[in-house]
Amino acid sequence: MQKRSNADNRHLCMFSYSDGRRCRMLRHPDHRGLCPFRSREERQQLESERIGTELAATLTGHFLTASDIDHVLGKVFTALAQDRISVRKAHTLCYAA
Ligand SMILES: [Zn+2]
Repeated sequence: MQKRSNADNRHLCMFSYSDGRRCRMLRHPDHRGLCPFRSREERQQLESERIGTELAATLTGHFLTASDIDHVLGKVFTALAQDRISVRKAHTLCYAA
């Protein structure tokens, strides 16, 4: 088996799995260290942390009325359509509503 040279490794994703293996995908052209899949996960995680406050804001300031829930679900749908949160997180939020 032929090993890649260090010059080739410069273009590979820097993500490491928990067992020590490294991702073998090429880096995303717009990200300095991660492949398209890992950079998307990173972007979603950062956005999820930021969007929590935005989603928690209801019309009345509480989760008391159906309008409050509808208002928040509308923001969840928008965030999912804009790929700002994961499908799994949107599913969990909708189920909780
Ligand atoms: Zn990767």
